[in-house]
Amino acid sequence: MARVLALLGVGVVPADTPILRADDLGVLRGDGVFETIHVRDGEPWGLEPHLDRMARSAERLSMPLPPRADLVELAGQACAAWSPEVEGGLRIVCTRGPEDGGPVTAYATIAPVAAATIAARHNGVAVITATLGVPAEVRTEAPWLLGGAKTLSYAINMASLRWAAGQGADDVLWVSVDGYALEAPTSTLVWLVDGVLYTVPAATTGILAGTTAAYLLEHAGELGMRADERLIRPAELHDADGVWLTSSSRGLAEVRTLDGVTLDPSPETTRMRKLLGYS
Ligand code: PLP
Repeated sequence: MARVLALLGVGVVPADTPILRADDLGVLRGDGVFETIHVRDGEPWGLEPHLDRMARSAERLSMPLPPRADLVELAGQACAAWSPEVEGGLRIVCTRGPEDGGPVTAYATIAPVAAATIAARHNGVAVITATLGVPAEVRTEAPWLLGGAKTLSYAINMASLRWAAGQGADDVLWVSVDGYALEAPTSTLVWLVDGVLYTVPAATTGILAGTTAAYLLEHAGELGMRADERLIRPAELHDADGVWLTSSSRGLAEVRTLDGVTLDPSPETTRMRKLLGYS
């Protein structure tokens, strides 16, 4: 399935259409916001929470966004051109626009979810920890660090994943300098202890508030679990009843090893994946 490209106010165009100016601040500075949304049966899953988060991200960057209804229309145009049988990743991208001023640049793409991503839902992932170089709660006092904003500046996230691959791991768990687990470069940490499903508090740590983890925790009662948030040190995860990384495209990936230590497989993984509606 080829990629789909849709431009705000224009609609679907050939996917290789050049659409960015050379002075677009999204390219020059990574200055903009984006969302990645899972497309299943031809529909964007959880579009509303993603657009809510995009609005929060833009607010943190003091950047205007196109009207929400226009973004919904853009997503709809892209999805209408997508084959409903294929799992897709819908990216909605909004940059601050040209350097000398001008409107926000906004477009959407859809690409197939990679086979390796789908496989990780079933096979789990090997994860290693790496420092993010900041104390766990510094970003609440330092708004310029853009905690909680999903900006286009993902070079560090991608470098972290390349570093992990170089170590033979599938993913990274970022750790604060004071020793707390934060998040992974493109996913949220979730773990289970004594029937309570936990995640890391986004409001106090400046991690990205994951929409997939939020859905899981909101619906934890349907699995007979309770939900809560707290900080945790990576070593404590070795004793959890299950540890997962959650994100829109991959859904739920069970952490099979953490820093080379094998974690016990959780019997809950399949039920949790089904609750999220992933195949
Ligand atoms: N944390 C980071 C840094 C991410 O980039 C993502 C993915 O967008 C997530 C967490 C998971 O968020 P979501 O579940 O909304 O995809």
